[in-house]
Amino acid sequence: MSGCEAEKLQGSLLEAYRCLQCYDAPCRKGCPAGIEVDKFIRLIHKGDFKGAALTIEKDNPFGLICGVICPQESLCQKNCTSHKLGQPIDIKNLQRYALETARQEGWGNAALNRKEIPVQRINIAGDISLFQPEQGNNGKVAVIGAGPSGITCALYLKQMGYQVEIFEQTGALGGRLTQGIPGFRINRDMLISELKALTNALPIHFHRTFGKDITLSALKELGFQGIYLACGKWQEKTLSISGGNLDGVYTCTEILTGNRWLKGKHKKAAVIGAGNVAMDVAGTLVAGGVEEVHVFFIGTNKEVTAWQKEREDAWQKGVLFHMLAIPEAILGQGGKVSAIRFQRSKVLAEENGAWNVCSLGDQFNFTYPIDMVVTAIGFDTQQELFSAQGIQLNPSGHVVVDDFLSTNIPEVFAGGDMTQSGSFTVVRAVADGKRAALHMHKMLRKGGC
Ligand SMILES: Cc1cc2nc3c(=O)[nH]c(=O)nc-3n(C[C@H](O)[C@H](O)[C@H](O)COP(=O)(O)OP(=O)(O)OC[C@H]3O[C@@H](n4cnc5c(N)ncnc54)[C@H](O)[C@@H]3O)c2cc1C
Ligand code: SF4
Repeated sequence: MSGCEAEKLQGSLLEAYRCLQCYDAPCRKGCPAGIEVDKFIRLIHKGDFKGAALTIEKDNPFGLICGVICPQESLCQKNCTSHKLGQPIDIKNLQRYALETARQEGWGNAALNRKEIPVQRINIAGDISLFQPEQGNNGKVAVIGAGPSGITCALYLKQMGYQVEIFEQTGALGGRLTQGIPGFRINRDMLISELKALTNALPIHFHRTFGKDITLSALKELGFQGIYLACGKWQEKTLSISGGNLDGVYTCTEILTGNRWLKGKHKKAAVIGAGNVAMDVAGTLVAGGVEEVHVFFIGTNKEVTAWQKEREDAWQKGVLFHMLAIPEAILGQGGKVSAIRFQRSKVLAEENGAWNVCSLGDQFNFTYPIDMVVTAIGFDTQQELFSAQGIQLNPSGHVVVDDFLSTNIPEVFAGGDMTQSGSFTVVRAVADGKRAALHMHKMLRKGGC
């Protein structure tokens, strides 16, 4: 063992030692996937890293990935009793360490061998059920979308003996994990190797778009008795201001996937929006050699939705923030972006904590010289595709589901980002995938939910 590895081991053991092993551990309740956090920390403290890895992965097949990108400060760690003693337990890094050790030792992902786990009960967030792998389950299920939610659902159903097939619109695995979260935040090789291992035994039809190449009625005709929609949000919100067609205007997907942006082409960028995606776009631009990256936002610091850690990372990279700015027009010279004009805004508080903005008037307008604009103001669901299939959406465009993740159409379930508003996380998508598998299993076994 190298000096650095020994130091990491010692640090993990000491951190695990700090855990109070609370009765009715509140950290467990903060984990959407229902990981037995206190138990895996106890096993680390005992030096049983294999046991720790099994404990994590039986509840979250994406445990290693979440050990890198989970916003623990707003989930498990937020609930940690050790807050009262000064510092919460660093749960995310303990999880990551246990699973990295597992991979180094060649143990593989425990979620793929759950039959070997001597635990009879699997936790489903908010719903503890007897849900052990069973043989003899018959039924054919279609999963739409190869993101974390779809893969999790397919994995659990497959292990219960069902015939599962995934239909994915792109040619890639992982959804936003591979086509959103930038490489500077998660190691690509690790990500690809985890995704390949998880999907090794799952039949996936790539380049098949639900609503275009494959419809609900076609799936039913093909004999699928249950369908899980896990399509995330793939309709990019756009700004309707003049200048949007100039050379130098990009969508955030073009930047994050590197599909159109030519590195080294631009020097000074304006990123519109201040959510997590905008922070990732800003970081990607810095990493791509853009000399000045400016984030413009219509509200104040209070209304910024990016997680604190993401904001701090952006600050540290030298990203500059401009608040209270409503984009009005992108200006150009010779067909290329040369500047962006803003109105100065004022935040108006509304009922239920909601907020809006108004312009302070033309005399406060200002123009900023830049040569690149990226809109990063969020994503919507592909509403037209889903409503054309008769699937009910709420006014914000999310698919409406009940407590069992059932949609308005019998035998059709939905989960992950496409059903949620607010904060989107991989661990929440995984939790929905598990819940959907459980409820589909109940439906297929008993002939109804
Ligand atoms: C830039 C960015 C950074 C993020 N950072 C973090 C982070 O640090 N931590 C964190 O926890 N979360 C983060 N998230 C959020 C996280 O990635 C999502 O919450 C999570 O991936 C949602 O999983 P999902 O399976 O519901 O949807 P997705 O990951 O979106 O996967 C949906 C899949 O369905 C496919 N699909 C869509 N429509 C169709 C169709 N009609 N037919 C067939 N297939 C279809 C898509 O191609 C995709 O593969 C980030 C997201 C973005 C965009
Ligand atoms: S709440 Fe914190 S201290 Fe208590 S068991 Fe969980 S991690 Fe340990």
